[in-house]
Amino acid sequence: MPLEIVTFVGGPVQTNAYLVADPETGAALVIDAPHETTDQIVAEAASRGWTISQIVITHTHWDHVADAKALKEATGAPLLAHPLAVDPLVNPTSSFGMLPVEVPPVATDDTLDEGDTVTLGGYTFTVMHLPGHDPAHIALVDENKEFFLGGDVLFPAGHGRTDLPGAEQAVMNATLRRLVAELPGTTAVLPGHGAPTTIGAEAPWIRILREP
Ligand SMILES: [Zn+2]
Repeated sequence: MPLEIVTFVGGPVQTNAYLVADPETGAALVIDAPHETTDQIVAEAASRGWTISQIVITHTHWDHVADAKALKEATGAPLLAHPLAVDPLVNPTSSFGMLPVEVPPVATDDTLDEGDTVTLGGYTFTVMHLPGHDPAHIALVDENKEFFLGGDVLFPAGHGRTDLPGAEQAVMNATLRRLVAELPGTTAVLPGHGAPTTIGAEAPWIRILREP
């Protein structure tokens, strides 16, 4: 059976969380934890008979992690993030001044870096480390390269902000070129904000990116 993916939108800047499951085994993982999405995600998993066994944080910006502690406590699942995310997750701050919502500190249970794999039932995802928007940014790609669970790297007709601390346009450009080089055009991009797109739909503007 194919992977099943349910999208949740939460928090003041409409951040996407994804509940990803192998329906054959009922194994599920969650990508990101926007403000006040825990109850919905847990209820959806329960209604489908899925067990959330991992929480993957794509990067440390407050809008993606505000519910990380709540989701971890509600599911008992380990929280996984890049090594560079460990400190920001226990010391939440905002690049935008005051945090607009409460972001409780949370401990990372295990780290994920470039080339690591995440097993979900009968599926295996590979971790890509994709700096440019946040040095701690990771994404997951399934073994069939059908889905790119990409956080704030690539959106329809645009990319994650590079005017934030730790962000860098040249690094972002390299990250985007890498996606076009390594993923087929058919790969669905499930971004941290907004609607899905595909690598093929975004490749034309990525190919003509110039260095800042
Ligand atoms: Zn972000």
